[in-house]
Amino acid sequence: MTESVPILMYHAVGENPSAATRRLSVAPRALDEQLAFLVRHGFTGMSFSDLAGAFETGDTLPERPVVLTFDDGYADFAECAWPILRSYGFPATVFVTSGWIADAGSHAAGAPLDRMLTWAQVRELAAAGIEIGAHSHSHPELDQLADAPLREELRLGRTLLEDCIGAPVRTLAYPFGYSTPRVRHAARAAGYRCAAAVRNIRASSSDDIFMLPRLTIRRSTDSSTFASIMTGGDKQIFRRDRLLTASWAAVRRSRRAGKRVLGHV
Ligand SMILES: [Zn+2]
Repeated sequence: MTESVPILMYHAVGENPSAATRRLSVAPRALDEQLAFLVRHGFTGMSFSDLAGAFETGDTLPERPVVLTFDDGYADFAECAWPILRSYGFPATVFVTSGWIADAGSHAAGAPLDRMLTWAQVRELAAAGIEIGAHSHSHPELDQLADAPLREELRLGRTLLEDCIGAPVRTLAYPFGYSTPRVRHAARAAGYRCAAAVRNIRASSSDDIFMLPRLTIRRSTDSSTFASIMTGGDKQIFRRDRLLTASWAAVRRSRRAGKRVLGHV
């Protein structure tokens, strides 16, 4: 039987997130309660690339595997989330938008939604065992980009992080979760080995490791909802999210097709 694994997607973790990140953020106390639940119920944390690697090779998974991922690279990951994760001995993967880094300097790009990690913090987290993944350079909708800027987003997003941590970065999360076969092909060509989408379903070894689905954890995810997500109730809880994603994907596909037509005019 193919085992399905919850890969959780977090964003900011703080008491006072910016208005832009609030809905997708969680309070530190909520993260603490969620980790206590995972430990109490015998879940084993894995990094995103370890899970993708196990799916690829068919290696046996640990008991009740779960992956915690944190998108964008908010400063509060270092200040709030990391101390909580460390106290429970849980690994995590942080997908960092390289152009949003607080001291990105001449590489600054895009529009960060809140206070972001510094290069020193990213280095420190990597040294402490947090997996650092890429999340593009400026956080665009990758599926809407032409080939050359798409390649550049994927290249810069990886190489700047590698220069920072002094180790290969082979894991990617698509901004907004958006990818198409063209984007996934470009990610592979850019040197990534696996990538995270959203889709709000559990991941399994039959999935394409360049679009492993994740489950969205947000401020409205209370402890009973979290418990239900982790014990098989995710299908019902994320039903509405999945319907919205499907219809929005169709809109974006036609928008990109429209751009291509205009490009020929
Ligand atoms: Zn993002």
